[in-house]
Amino acid sequence: MGKPTGFLEWSRQPAANRPPLERIKDWNEDPHHLPQLEMVQQAGRCMDCGVPYCHTGQLISGMAAGCPINNLIPEWNDLVYRGQWKEAIVRLHATNNFPEFTGRVCPAPCEGSCTVGLNGSPVTIKAIEAEIADRAWESGWITPRPPTARTGRRVAVIGSGPSGLACADQLNRAGHLVTVYERAGRIGGLLMYGIPNMKLDKDVVERRTRLMAEEGVSFVTGVTVGADVTAQELHNEFDAVVLATGATAARDLLVPGRELAGVHLAMSFLRGNTRRLLDGGASAEAPIDARGKHVVVIGGGDTGTDCVGTSIRQGALSVRQLEIMPRPPEQRAADNPWPEWPKVYKLDYGQEEARALWGEDPRRYLTTTRRFIGRSEHVTGIEICDVAWGKGADGRFEMREVAGSTQVIPADLVLLAMGFLGPEQALPKQFGCDLDPRGNIRAGIDKMTSVPGVFTAGDATRGQSLVVWAIKEGRQAAHGVDKYLMRESILPE
Ligand SMILES: Cc1cc2nc3c(=O)[nH]c(=O)nc-3n(C[C@H](O)[C@H](O)[C@H](O)COP(=O)(O)OP(=O)(O)OC[C@H]3O[C@@H](n4cnc5c(N)ncnc54)[C@H](O)[C@@H]3O)c2cc1C
Ligand code: SF4
Repeated sequence: MGKPTGFLEWSRQPAANRPPLERIKDWNEDPHHLPQLEMVQQAGRCMDCGVPYCHTGQLISGMAAGCPINNLIPEWNDLVYRGQWKEAIVRLHATNNFPEFTGRVCPAPCEGSCTVGLNGSPVTIKAIEAEIADRAWESGWITPRPPTARTGRRVAVIGSGPSGLACADQLNRAGHLVTVYERAGRIGGLLMYGIPNMKLDKDVVERRTRLMAEEGVSFVTGVTVGADVTAQELHNEFDAVVLATGATAARDLLVPGRELAGVHLAMSFLRGNTRRLLDGGASAEAPIDARGKHVVVIGGGDTGTDCVGTSIRQGALSVRQLEIMPRPPEQRAADNPWPEWPKVYKLDYGQEEARALWGEDPRRYLTTTRRFIGRSEHVTGIEICDVAWGKGADGRFEMREVAGSTQVIPADLVLLAMGFLGPEQALPKQFGCDLDPRGNIRAGIDKMTSVPGVFTAGDATRGQSLVVWAIKEGRQAAHGVDKYLMRESILPE
């Protein structure tokens, strides 16, 4: 244990972000470091609980409580407190292939379940994780470790998001020959083209995939499996296949006026912006540009927040965000106790920046869109109205529009960030895989689909989720593939 009285002596100190008005001037990540002494004290706040809820990774009320990949948090907190950073990265890598990703983008369900958070502020687990990972890279402790022997078995992983990458990394360690197919021009899935630069620098993604290539993983980009290469061809060439293709089918908003120019799916906007930053730099024109526009983002979740932050950096005149659900409470509600994930109001980076610019949180809660209004075939406004939620005759929650609350707000760029329906269906169909009632690829024991030798992982099977769950799923699928090929597996489940 770090310091037995640490949590009494030192208060939680998150890494200092740059002020919002400064950081919106560029597309850089915010530094998430603290000076060494402070970071050590933060780790020293850990109580090394007898039952460390931070690490349990259970689903409570349908949400993760604790770390889904069971990171050995109390152990590496203790190592950091003692200054044993090199040992800390070994403990971190034991459960997490990519701590530099989760240390940056994970919403940290571990912190929501930390015991210090019961009547105080939780340990800064996420910042400590990022610090361990970044130090390890900067100190040259993370070097290629190719397997010492090869099994001669060949595995194709389709999709290079965090689930595909984690799966490939694990299988390569077990000595299999892994080829990752990616239809985009760059490796990383949503790590590359979904999550914006200011949350996850693309060099950080490429550094890891370069290392994997040096360790022997083959990457093939610009190839759409199902079109450029068929399922049958992969069956012939490989001993096992993993479908890690994500949940990329976006939810649309089919109200009158949807066809107007200027109404776009969030991912078209975000992907286009990241591509132009990588290919042409910040001075190149974005394919969908918010500069000088009144932007309305429909959807109050994380993708919506990324649209807000990106629109602001592109130079939007104003940004509003519409959310159909009520504003969450400031404190945990009685039916949302610790160690559940706290469903409380928070100002994420995009909203913080909008407030700094225009004086208020851009989110408008309990609002629905009735239609898009346009002139000369381009959107100029949105007709919205207030909604109320209540229980219907069947006892289920239903929404109704509030009479007399209709109004029109200006909009010349509308971004639809209302979540994702699930995986695209063509590829699982070509492989002959069963789907579950929600349209996700059905996974059985060890992540095998209904087709022997074909496995699945990540958003493709669990629906749109989180990077940390994708890593967990990729590791589980790797265990399943290894067992299928070798009868037993040395890889963790
Ligand atoms: C805008 C946005 C922001 C997000 N922010 C966060 C965040 O801050 N923190 C967090 O934890 N999670 C975040 N998420 C969720 C997270 O990114 C996903 O849960 C995670 O990336 C899923 O990983 P995956 O490997 O299953 O799929 P993906 O990352 O979606 O990767 C799937 C890959 O498969 C490829 N592919 C699909 N079909 C084919 C084919 N036929 N042939 C070849 N390749 C194919 C796709 O091109 C894609 O690269 C965010 C999601 C979005 C959309
Ligand atoms: S729950 Fe919090 S205090 Fe307890 S072991 Fe985990 S990080 Fe440390």
